[in-house]
Formats: sequence, structure tokens, C-alpha cells
Amino acid sequence: MSDTGQFAEIIVDISARGVDRVFHYAVPAELKDKVKPGSRVLVPFGGRRLAGYVVGFGYPERDVKVREIAGILDEEPVLTEDLLEIARWMADSYLCSTAEAFSRIIAPRLGVKAIREVKLLRPAFPADKTDEVLSGLKHAPKQASVLREALLNPRLTRKELAAAAQTSPATVDTLVKAGLLEAEKVASSYYKDEITAGFTGDCLTRLNPDQEKAVEEISKALTGGKFGAFLLYGVTGSGKTEVYLGAIASALAAGRQAVTMVPEISLTPQMIGLFRERFGSLVAVLHSGLAGRERYDEWRRVKEGKAPVVLGTRSAVFAPLPRPGLFILDEEHEPSYKQDDHLRYHAREIAIKRAQLSGAAVVLGSATPSLESWYRSGRGGPYRLIKLPHRIDKKPLPHVTVVDLRQEIKDGNRGIFSRPLVAAVFDRLRKGEQTILFLNRRGYATFVVCRECGHVLKCGRCDISLTYHLDGVLRCHYCNYNTGLPAVCPGCGSGYIRHFGAGTQKVEDEAAKIFTGARILRMDSDSTAQRGSHEKILGAFRQGQADILIGTQMIAKGLDLPKVTLVGVVNADTTLFMPDFRAAERTFQLLTQVAGRSGRGKLPGEVLVQTYCPDHYSIAAAARHDVEGFYRDELPLRKSLGYPPFSYLARILFTHGDEGEISKGALLVKEILDKKLSGHDNFIEVLGPAPAPLSRIKGRFRWQLVIKGPRRAELKDIIRECLDDLENLRPSFKPAINIDINPQGMQ
Ligand code: ADP
Ligand code: ZN
Ligand code: ZN
Repeated sequence: MSDTGQFAEIIVDISARGVDRVFHYAVPAELKDKVKPGSRVLVPFGGRRLAGYVVGFGYPERDVKVREIAGILDEEPVLTEDLLEIARWMADSYLCSTAEAFSRIIAPRLGVKAIREVKLLRPAFPADKTDEVLSGLKHAPKQASVLREALLNPRLTRKELAAAAQTSPATVDTLVKAGLLEAEKVASSYYKDEITAGFTGDCLTRLNPDQEKAVEEISKALTGGKFGAFLLYGVTGSGKTEVYLGAIASALAAGRQAVTMVPEISLTPQMIGLFRERFGSLVAVLHSGLAGRERYDEWRRVKEGKAPVVLGTRSAVFAPLPRPGLFILDEEHEPSYKQDDHLRYHAREIAIKRAQLSGAAVVLGSATPSLESWYRSGRGGPYRLIKLPHRIDKKPLPHVTVVDLRQEIKDGNRGIFSRPLVAAVFDRLRKGEQTILFLNRRGYATFVVCRECGHVLKCGRCDISLTYHLDGVLRCHYCNYNTGLPAVCPGCGSGYIRHFGAGTQKVEDEAAKIFTGARILRMDSDSTAQRGSHEKILGAFRQGQADILIGTQMIAKGLDLPKVTLVGVVNADTTLFMPDFRAAERTFQLLTQVAGRSGRGKLPGEVLVQTYCPDHYSIAAAARHDVEGFYRDELPLRKSLGYPPFSYLARILFTHGDEGEISKGALLVKEILDKKLSGHDNFIEVLGPAPAPLSRIKGRFRWQLVIKGPRRAELKDIIRECLDDLENLRPSFKPAINIDINPQGMQ
């Protein structure tokens, strides 16, 4: 080892911008073998002792007084080489400090808490003995029905199993004593995610030719050891999961590891079960719901190469793989891949960067790819497009009916539910089938729509829906254009132009009034604030304890339930008129997801979509199940308005308790930016400042500047320069600032 080994280059764990650089510390002799790149150490800094990350070794500048490392925090480095590089890249790309990036990357390690274990029961005999065992229980029908439930879902607790078989836990105990059921101890936080649905029991399937070709293409990239990104565009039910599993097997065969990510809401027991069935103890599950100790254990197994198959949510993208070979994002269009706090990273961007660093493959899977990914997989784009054009079971997609709410108004129905929807729900109640009433999201913004013609008021410059405020002002939250509420509709002259927005509570109240006697459950962020209540509500619905389930996106998982034959989308317009340039895309994705997932049981499914804009291209395309048609309409619109993927956006969010300070601060930043931009032909625009759509949270006001330009690097550089200037203005500059590069939403 060269002499530079005496001096470690260290990023100190402090997030101030001014100290975001490497400091040199001498390595004491007794730590020589332990301090490695990626180690966390303790160092004297100013008058304090702080944690620091070792990023390398090298000589300090001349005449600098070098202090000594005071101690080491971990036996083994917590960061792999490529993650050190990723942290640097994050600091540069997201304008955070390197220390912030580090702490985000290793967050799973921190916080070790006690965990609880639960016992899950499963059949204790081989599958081919099933008939024999069951016929042996001919005279014990209760025991037989418990066993049948356990065969169907081998991951239930004693109590749940008893409930599922409608018998007492004592019957379950009898089977355990008889050796027909055995218990498996599982940490309760795993179980939390695993309980949410039944087990399909599918095992190794033979791939169809499309799947085979897909696996082959991805594997080729993998074994070549060169970076490759693929968009796996497969209609719902086309068997994307099998492609993931096949590609993972190739990664393992090549001696490398694979990370598979799913959106928060879809880390289902089916998914975990499928992975465990195929890869057994090679699987590690990483997600934020894991308790500290267990999370740490999984993290370690990954780092040591013992668990080369990682399954998790967004944060799993930082899994410390020794030799990354494959990164998969299922449902890659989902907004939950974007972290939504001060360090706003996108798991897709990190995955691609990591794959580039380690010559790995990235697979982006979706039935409704994000417009960005779709565009990038076009001719000459950086992603390769792989299509799975057919559904496995050939089962037709459910019939989607668009209900025109304007007609309801004309006919005197001013309620939340249209007559066709009411009739359809009554029909299901009669047949003993289940209904889901779906509210696209809890509306944070109120828009104004003409109930006669469906005209929505938009900003002429930004093409963003204007948001209605209680003081009667309509505002564009991108550029701050504002106007009063018109007395008549500019489209048709009708006076019936109103602001709009209905919450789940209101929908529940009205449903209870109309469908008297029906058993109704509601699931939204209010009713599921308690941990685990989400699963409880879905579980109750699955067991037939209710006829109607009302909820937001959270209930998407429930759409797979076999007794659900009707899904009513209460108001597609709440998504369609969000103040966001992706509003049409989100609406299309949501409706397509709803339509693709419902009616998967034996009974045929039906979807009813209520809207004031039945002719809108996103709604019409979703109703025809026409994914590519939607992109054909949407891409030219984005191009003509200069929105992504034809440009990049960044948002600077200002928050402060005093609205005067915040507008002063935001205007000042705008001024700084404008000054930097003047005289340059870089086509960068600064929109606003304007109050954010969520203009006040917990007593703090929120304002934003939206910056738009053709090149991401320039956008980022100009904001960085601006932040440096602001640093010098402190403390007279008061608002807190948050930067979002490539925002996925701008609430
Ligand atoms: P997607 O994720 O594309 O919507 P899934 O991966 O959930 O679709 O697959 C849909 C269903 O088809 C699953 O039940 C899966 O087990 C089954 N399946 C997948 N591939 C095959 C195959 N080659 N042969 C038979 N069934 C398959
Ligand atoms: Zn505007
Ligand atoms: Zn009108």
C-alpha cells in the first residue's frame, strides 16, 4: 500500500453546503486494517466529534494541519464502491450535500429496534398427499375446511385460519397436534405485508415465446457485462413477473445480484411468495416497513452476497450488492418511485446510474409506461423496447363504460352517483357480488368545471387547470396568472359553472343514503392512519364482510378480488384537472390500471367511469384499452407546450411561517435567476413565483418557482449558482428552500 494510506479522505456527516467537501484525516496505526473506503468513522471537527464517511485515500494539501481519526463505527464498510460514486452523483444531480446522500443510502442500517414474531401455519404434508389427507378427515368436516384454507393460503395465523374456515382456533390446534399443520416463525413486519392477499399457488411456468424472447434479450445484456436499459411494455396480465424471474435467474447464473422494486402499494404477499418460491432463502425483502433489527439483518445478508435476490420498494435501489447485475422496476410509471422529502431522488434514475457504473441491466416494466420512458424507448432512444402484447389467459379486459355526468345534470340528477352507476351497484347487491367505488385521489386542489358542457378553466400560457380558492380567485400554480370566477361558462354561456371536489367521506355518506342496508367500508388515509388498518379493511372486504368498498388509490390491490365485479370511478376529473402537466397521463394510467386489474376472478368485470369530459382523449383511450393511442395523442401536446420529455423542469419550493418573508424571498430568487439568465440563449424560463397548490401546511406558507429548460445539466447548474449566492445572504434570507429536479408532482 502506498503512503497515501495514512490519510483518509472523509466527508463529514454535516449537511451544510459550505463544508460539502473532502477533509483529510490521518489514520492511526491501530485502525490501519479497518479503515477502508465506505467505512464510517468518528472524527474531530471544529470543537465537536462527528461521524464521517471514508471515500478514499490521498495526500492533504501542503501546510494543512491534519488531525487524526478518533474511532471507527463499523467493523465492515457500510458502503460499496459504486454507492460511494452514487452519493457523489446524487449530490451533483439533486443539489443535496454528499452527507445527505450518504445518510439516505445507509438509512436502512440505522435504528435497531426490537421485533415481534408471529407464527404462520402451513400444511405439513407433500402436495400429492392432499387427497389422501382430506379423505382421512371425512368425518371431521371442520378440520377439513381448515386444511383447505391452509392449502389455499399457507401464510395465516392460527386465529385467521380459524376465521377463514369459520370455526374455532381449537380446531386449528387439533391439526397442529396431529402433525398436519406446521408453524413457521416470521417477523411481524414481514407478515404485515404478506397478509394482504391469498396465495395463488402458481409454480414454475413454461414461458411463452414472447416471454422467452424478453428474458433472452435481457440476459444477453447481462452476460455481456455492458449497461443496457429495457422498457418491458406488457399489457396487464401478460406475465411480466415471469420475465423478471427469468432475468433474475440469468443474473444469478452470471454470479451477480438483482434488485426488484415494486411501488409501495404493491409489495403483496403474492409477489414475495413468488420470489421465495423460486429463489427460497436467496431472497431478501427490503422496505421501509421493516423494523430496524430485521432490516439490518436483511441488509447484511445482501451485502455479504448471501441474499442475491432483493425485493423491495423504492429504497431497495440502494441495496449494497457486491456485484450488481440487474435492476428491475415493476410499474415503473408509479409516482411512488420518487422520494418526496427534502432529498427528492427518483429510484429509476438511481437504478440507471448504478447500472451504468457496474455494467448492469435495467428493466422498466409497465402496462402503461411513463411518457418519458416511452419516448426514450422510441427509435434511436437510449432504452430498448420489449413488448408483451398478449394476455396470458386470453381473458378479455373488462368492459369500460364512460358515464357522461353532463347528461345527469341535464336530467336533474345533481348527486355524486349517476343513474347507470346506481343501477349497476343495485344489480351487484342483488346478486351478492361486491363493488368498489374508487376516488382517484384525495383532491388537494379544487378546479372549476362547467356542468353543462364540461369546460374547465385553464391557464392559457401553461395549459394547467386553474385552482379555485375560497376567496373566489382562480390561480395558475405554475406562473401565478390569476383571475376571478366567471359568471358564465366561456365555452357555452351556461351559468352552471362550479368548483368541484368530493372526498371519500362525502361519497360514503351519499352511498349509505342511496344503498340502504348495504354494508359499506371506507379506506383512505384518514381511516388507515393506524398501522395495519389498511390490511384489516381489505381483509374484511375479502372475507365478504361488506358489499361496497370506498377508497382512494390504496384500494388498487383490492381490485384483484374474485367477488368484485363492479368498479365505479366516482370522478375521473379529479385527476384529469390536477394542476399538473402530467394530469392526462396520470388519469390514463389510473383508469387503465383499474380496468386491467378488475374482473380477474371467474365472474366478468365491469368498470364505470363518471366524468364531465367523456370525450377527453385520455379517458376515451383508457376506455378502449388503447395504450399506444394515448401516447400518440399526448406526445405532440407535450412537445408543443415544451413539457417533459421534451424539456426538463425543476421546482424551488419556499416555506416559511410569514407570507411576507416568503414572497420577498421567492421574488429575490427569481431576480437572481433572471440576472444569471439574461444574455444567454439557453431557453431557460423561470415561472412564478406562485403559491404552491397546497399553499399552506401546518401553518407554514408554501410558494414555488418552476424552472423549465431543454437541458437538465444547465438547469441544475443555474440553480446551484443561485443557492451559492443565497448562502451569502443568510441570515437575512429567511424562507427554507427545497429543490426538486425533475418533479413528479407539484403539490
Ligand atoms: P402482469 O404483471 O404482466 O400483469 P402477471 O405477471 O401477473 O402479469 O401474470 C399474469 C398471470 O399469468 C399470473 O397468474 C401468472 O402466474 C400467469 N403466467 C405468467 N406467465 C405464464 C405462462 N408462461 N404460462 C402460464 N401462465 C403464466
Ligand atoms: Zn400559467
Ligand atoms: Zn359550458
